[in-house]
Amino acid sequence: STPRLAADFFGFQGRLSPAEQEAALRVRTFLEAEVRPVADGFWSRAEFPRHLIPSLARLGLLGAFVPEVRHFENSAVYRGWIALELARVDAGVATFVGVQSGLAMGAVHVGGSPEQQAAWLPRMASGEVVGAFGLTEPLSGSDSARGLRTTARREGDHWVLRGEKRWIGNATFADVVVVFAKDVADGQVKGFLVATDSPGFTASKIEDKISLRSVQNADLVLADVVVAEDRRLPGIRSFRDVATVLRLTRCDVAWQAIGIAMGAYEAALAYALQREQFGKPIAAHQLVQDLLSRCVGNITASIALCLQASTLQDEGVQRDEHSALAKSFATSRMRETVAWAREILGGNGIVLEHGVARFFADAEAIYSYEGTRDMNSLIVGRAITGHQAFV
Ligand code: FAD
Repeated sequence: STPRLAADFFGFQGRLSPAEQEAALRVRTFLEAEVRPVADGFWSRAEFPRHLIPSLARLGLLGAFVPEVRHFENSAVYRGWIALELARVDAGVATFVGVQSGLAMGAVHVGGSPEQQAAWLPRMASGEVVGAFGLTEPLSGSDSARGLRTTARREGDHWVLRGEKRWIGNATFADVVVVFAKDVADGQVKGFLVATDSPGFTASKIEDKISLRSVQNADLVLADVVVAEDRRLPGIRSFRDVATVLRLTRCDVAWQAIGIAMGAYEAALAYALQREQFGKPIAAHQLVQDLLSRCVGNITASIALCLQASTLQDEGVQRDEHSALAKSFATSRMRETVAWAREILGGNGIVLEHGVARFFADAEAIYSYEGTRDMNSLIVGRAITGHQAFV
């Protein structure tokens, strides 16, 4: 049977089908052998380990939700578990997969014509084409449903895009960016597949990040970039369709948060068992045990919540507030957990070499991206009260 993670205290992994458990184990084996040894180095140098992309594709991690390209039939719970496994070792690699598979392929899957899906999804699943998702702008983050300033103007059989984007993951080396822009004619948000070698398109890496350093986030400038009409995603007719993509991926971010918490907790437990103070392992001191126990409680509660949120997705009844609660709850618990894990290591908790610092730092970006904790909380608040508080 598949070995369980020590941090999976209640054995939730048993909810996966045997085929899913085998696939998850293959992913874990790969991550331990190929990713864990290099993760700190790439993080430190703020580089992305691009050599891993073909392996991520071979493992079936790109587009696992797309019936036409997936390696085997699988559930949303499985895909969430994979996000956990990835983030438990390297949140940067987990984020690459989240952007390529969830956001970029998700946008083509939700909004693309059959011809666009056939042209792009297989090449994105094989890693031959790297995608990015361009929604956020310098002046519009949480309010991107209404605040986008990037414009799209139709001129005959093509469109002209003008504006700026910020934080766009993978964009320094992507082949294509799904750019969301407001149609000047009807004021609605539309989506475009923009080749990164288009004249007028530039991507500059955002330097000096203290979180998710290996993720290549970029500022984009679209200076009258010309895009053919057949590169417009016809199924993206308004922000509502963008929200559909985000609803499908947000739960995976919640699973990533659990993976980060697990990675930090496991490193802290290993450390506490070997580090001695006052003549015994610090793991034998009551207060350290209490911190470890709280970490396990956070992880366990978050898995239980995400398991049900993803099950609702499998059943086709997941609503925005379900994935929003999963994201806000799991990221809050993650932030507490990585802080406790860091505390258990004392001074060594702030040094990469001891295995917690990277998780501690990466947690901050996960807390804020794909909808900040506050915004997700307000989406839940709207569902509970019927009052929209954030506009
Ligand atoms: P703001 O919207 O300016 O918010 C700042 C603070 O104000 C937050 O605490 C927020 O919760 C709070 N706030 C705002 N409005 C309200 C309100 N009405 N009520 C209460 N509180 C409020 N975007 C992409 O499009 N593609 C990507 O690939 C991508 N990758 C990312 C990767 C990283 C590492 C990061 C950090 C971000 C990424 N983003 C990406 C952008 C991300 O989704 C945004 O950072 C996020 O949506 C928040 O927007 P903001 O940073 O502009 O913060």
